Amino acid sequence: MELQGKTALVTGAGSGIGAAVARQLAHAGASVVVADVQQDAASAVAAEITGAGGQARAIAGDVANPEASRAAVMLAQEAFGALHLAVNNAGIGGDQAPVADYGIEQWDKVIAINLSGVFYGMKYQIPAMIQAGGGAIVNMASILGSVGTANSAAYVAAKHGVLGLTKTAALDHARDGVRVNAIGPGYIETPLLANLDQATYQALAGLHPLGRLGRSEEVAELTLFLLSERASFITGSYHLVDGGYTAQ
Ligand code: NAD
Repeated sequence: MELQGKTALVTGAGSGIGAAVARQLAHAGASVVVADVQQDAASAVAAEITGAGGQARAIAGDVANPEASRAAVMLAQEAFGALHLAVNNAGIGGDQAPVADYGIEQWDKVIAINLSGVFYGMKYQIPAMIQAGGGAIVNMASILGSVGTANSAAYVAAKHGVLGLTKTAALDHARDGVRVNAIGPGYIETPLLANLDQATYQALAGLHPLGRLGRSEEVAELTLFLLSERASFITGSYHLVDGGYTAQ
């Protein structure tokens, strides 16, 4: 229960990695704001946490809307008194197409959610954390924050952007007692990858030296470590949980 007395906000917490992070935060004693664009999904995860004896509140909102980011921070303060921890995790894959064919509306959408959404989140989370006496943020990037892949221009650009944004926010607010780090998961078994055919799935697994895809819980373990006091001297850095993908 090392996070007892802390309040955490997780975006995209209705599914996959975000839901696993929310569950582990609650298990560690934190009160959790479960934010997701899908109200039902957020409510289900919050209900699961409270059903297990934890503290959680659900809120629906689109991270590409700054007002939704502000509302989630306000809910943390109103419901639990303060905000100490945040995980900017909401993200979408976007269309698959080469740059010359990549749709402009699709580009704008992916950048709005996967990059601007992280900025809007931190913009409102950081003042609340300073008010609370300090805090820690994890931004969910990807292995595609440091290497490219064909046909995913918007996703790759957004995730590279999240790394730059993470480093800058860490420098801007180090003396405010707010640590900011990014995580780079390899391919993780979540609904984000649900539409893959079996051959593509096997090919993706083979790209990881450990020979399989990752699990949301394995990403959540690293996230909790970075949010905890055990990571008290870690800020502005990028941490992989990728089964060796980028070591090759
Ligand atoms: P997921 O699709 O299982 O969950 C994402 C959640 O985010 C969903 O509940 C969805 O409703 C929510 N969401 C989507 N758009 C939103 C918006 N505009 N505002 C608020 N919520 C929104 O996906 P996941 O695999 O758990 O991915 C979580 C994060 O991890 C994403 O940022 C993704 O890019 C990143 N990531 C995933 C993988 C992977 O292989 N699954 C790998 C590396 C990084």
